[in-house]
Amino acid sequence: MNDGANMKNTICVLSLTATMLVTAGFVPGVRAQSDASQTITSGRAQVSLLELYTSQGCSSCPPAEEWLGQLKANDGLWTKLVPVAFHVDYWDYLGWDDTFGAAQFSQRQRDYAAAWQNDRVYTPGFVLDGAEWRAWRRGQLIGANKNELAGELSIQLDGNKVKITFDPAGDARDVIGQLRVRVALLGFGMSTDIKAGENKGRELTHDFVALDYHERRLRAKEGTPQAHVTLNTNKKAERYGVAAWVVPLDSPKPLQAAGGWLDDEIAATVIAVVTSEGDMVDKVVKSEDEWRKLLTEDEYRVARQKGTERAFTGKYWDNHEEGVYLCVACGFPVFSSETKFESGSGWPSFWEPLEEQAVKEESDRSLGMVRTEVMCHRCESHLGHVFEDGPKPTGMRYCINSAALKFVPRDPEKVKSGD
Ligand SMILES: [Zn+2]
Repeated sequence: MNDGANMKNTICVLSLTATMLVTAGFVPGVRAQSDASQTITSGRAQVSLLELYTSQGCSSCPPAEEWLGQLKANDGLWTKLVPVAFHVDYWDYLGWDDTFGAAQFSQRQRDYAAAWQNDRVYTPGFVLDGAEWRAWRRGQLIGANKNELAGELSIQLDGNKVKITFDPAGDARDVIGQLRVRVALLGFGMSTDIKAGENKGRELTHDFVALDYHERRLRAKEGTPQAHVTLNTNKKAERYGVAAWVVPLDSPKPLQAAGGWLDDEIAATVIAVVTSEGDMVDKVVKSEDEWRKLLTEDEYRVARQKGTERAFTGKYWDNHEEGVYLCVACGFPVFSSETKFESGSGWPSFWEPLEEQAVKEESDRSLGMVRTEVMCHRCESHLGHVFEDGPKPTGMRYCINSAALKFVPRDPEKVKSGD
């Protein structure tokens, strides 16, 4: 795979030299500005766009995706090369609906085929800077270093609101006003158990997956061509990134591309939680200072510093009223009196969260124990821990701090009359 000597000297073979990158003053990649904003820029030399058209249903796709995935560790990632994986939906009829597939991604590939006067599409299909590219099987791509002045493409994130600006150079100046920008939110380390189709029984891991995608005309405002999009996904990834590229209206060949990893604070704003009704719930992200102002000292210590209240001291361990328990920090409904039980532990105990998506669980190795921490899914405040010694029907014991909860009686009148 890594045998550069065998690579043919064609336009598909990309230079391995990195001299441009170490030139002082050229700082591509990610520059964090504050907690909730981030700017990613291309630099002025052209960055290549590498697209992969792939499908979870196609047996020849996993090797191509694996090859794409190793670009995460490549020195030229983002600075010379921006990869994006588009999952197509045209193989879905073979028995496996690709979770990341979309008709618009299949259409992108068909548009390329039409531009190349080709009448078929296939997976895995690579497109490098708007041209069909098959050299990935022959060697490792480090990224293009064309040494051309293309202009600076900038992705400015304010939470999940994105402003794209382009300051063209060289030939790109001639087509200003005739440009569109394409923006993709990327997911990394995403695993799927494939239950049908050609990859049945395999667990596939995907990187650079386009999770959200937008196309906009670049419009000059105050002399700078710009466009605005909002990024959202309900898909959980290990890590997120963003890619943007500028294309003339009359050509599929990108003029410039930019991309980078999203800061954690920004990544938290693009993820929405989906309730059982399928509604999207926006994540709540606040600074620790803001939380400290909103919460009492005890609430803050438990919810934001993963503290534990002393047994039998909280408000709710002995509460038998009917109602719903909300996250004390953000008000998200997390537990119900319907699954509350007497555990004898001195903490409010439940055998199940209000719904599957209400809480988030993570391994906690503090205090020399391995426990599973339970957090509010919306704001990630600490609620307590879950143990496997609970009652039927689930056998689980969600041991929750009263200080992390706010109880709302279902119907105060009814509770009274039932006494
Ligand atoms: Zn919360």
